[in-house]
Amino acid sequence: MKEHILVAVAWPYANGALHLGHIAGAYLPADIFARYQRLKGNHVLMVSGSDQHGTPITIRAEQESKSPQEIADKYHRQFLDCWQQLGISFDLFTTTGTENHAEVTQDMFTTLLQNGHIYKATTLQAYCPTCQRFLADRYVVGTCPHCGFPNARGDQCDECGKPLDPTELVDITCKVCSGTPRFESSEHFFLKLTGLQKQLEDWVTGQTHWRNTVLSSTWKYLNEGLKDRAISRDISWGVKIPLPGFEEKRIYVWFEAVTGYLSASKEWAKLQGDETAWQPFWHEDAKGYYFIGKDNTFFHTLIWPAMLMGYGGLNLPYDVPANEFLTIEGSKLSTSRNWAVWLPDYLQRYAPDALRYFLTSNMPENADSDFSWDKFLRCNNNELVATYGNLVHRVLTFSYRNFKGAVPSPGELDEQSKKLLDVAAETFDKVDKALGSCKFREALRLNMSLAQEANRYLDVQAPWKTIKEDVEATARTLYTVLCVVSVLKVTMYPFLPFSSDKLHAYLGFSGNAREQGWKIQYPAKGQKLEQPQALFTKLDDSIVAEEKARMGHITGL
Ligand SMILES: [Zn+2]
Ligand SMILES: [Zn+2]
Repeated sequence: MKEHILVAVAWPYANGALHLGHIAGAYLPADIFARYQRLKGNHVLMVSGSDQHGTPITIRAEQESKSPQEIADKYHRQFLDCWQQLGISFDLFTTTGTENHAEVTQDMFTTLLQNGHIYKATTLQAYCPTCQRFLADRYVVGTCPHCGFPNARGDQCDECGKPLDPTELVDITCKVCSGTPRFESSEHFFLKLTGLQKQLEDWVTGQTHWRNTVLSSTWKYLNEGLKDRAISRDISWGVKIPLPGFEEKRIYVWFEAVTGYLSASKEWAKLQGDETAWQPFWHEDAKGYYFIGKDNTFFHTLIWPAMLMGYGGLNLPYDVPANEFLTIEGSKLSTSRNWAVWLPDYLQRYAPDALRYFLTSNMPENADSDFSWDKFLRCNNNELVATYGNLVHRVLTFSYRNFKGAVPSPGELDEQSKKLLDVAAETFDKVDKALGSCKFREALRLNMSLAQEANRYLDVQAPWKTIKEDVEATARTLYTVLCVVSVLKVTMYPFLPFSSDKLHAYLGFSGNAREQGWKIQYPAKGQKLEQPQALFTKLDDSIVAEEKARMGHITGL
């Protein structure tokens, strides 16, 4: 039976370029999963958008002397361009700046208020006398009370990852002027997480299929006891509070950003011309997968579920396969120091599938992993080109040249050929299972070991020798490997969509890889092949030194 699969992906702040940490953390795994589910014939809705609100945007705007809207628009366009080039196949990538998003957020706010999950209280808010304004949490910097990190932000400590309130920080300063803020009372709204603690514990207890890293960090917060959380702020850039007397305040960015999954689903439905089309993706028989980096876990395994429980009638997340971090050349990625590989910069010089391959085979699924240019080069040349690309190219060009541009007719298959096709069928099922449970590294490894097996078979059968004395044996060998390549074309598609589409055409199939779906289809005997080109490009050793020299200097464009 066809399922409804919601693929919800973290909303990037529209205050800077995307880098490989974003891609390995959320966007690539989400895309692999969405492509796989579409091949399976399921109904897929993959949504996200630019987060235009929040202080990261206003800080950037102040730095560049532009309006927050100009900054948000610039990076939103750049994001769309990157998705296109890297093949990240969103059904909708919108922004938090739409009228629809404001309406859905305000409805979430009002409903939670009516249902008793939001209350009003007077609270202390940091006020900078020099800047003469209330400071958003990110503008307040101080020492983390949990780990002693001296540069913690008022909303979260980047060192230990704990969510914070500015009043918890020790020795605070204003990020804008380095002055000392004072705390003044201000009236705000709070999400009553304490009232949902028990319900959340019961729900998390049932999520035994979550990754261990996600479960353990979620239980850590639950065991410490949840605290109520402010959902409004004294700022002017954001979604308005739908109540009189609060015109000077806005809804806190985290509250509206998570609501974005719902508002984007509704916007997508409107664009389909059917305003109810989003509903099957939010019913309890649908499955919602949330692809995020580990620093966002708390918001997706506890806060968003709490909001959905309080709202009522909407489906809670089924899985939150949060990834760990990607380091760069052995050091922690840092956008402020330009210690990052920026996606627009990468895409100017290298192929999308090469990056998709590297980041999947090194995906930080259960532990942090590292990107280095040296590893990227070796991964591209020794695995993608030498193992997979070479297999495909050898068998296609040899068949094309020696069998009049068509798939050879094999006659009876021998034991070795049958054995290899059995391995291909087993691999197909194993990759299916791995992809369905978000084990992307494992799925790619299985594909590559099938390619290796096929290379060994080809070396043993040596069609370039048998062609002279035994055409039938040669036909059998080539046909068998073309069958394996047809399987790999499908099982590699979620990872390497550009190459699989080319391969689909080279093999002489009609339509494209996406339309064929998740099924084994061998080429017909005598099927016309298209003149093949190499799928991947070998990179020169010199790029490692060149790229390393650029590291730390190249900005996000
Ligand atoms: Zn800390
Ligand atoms: Zn100040």
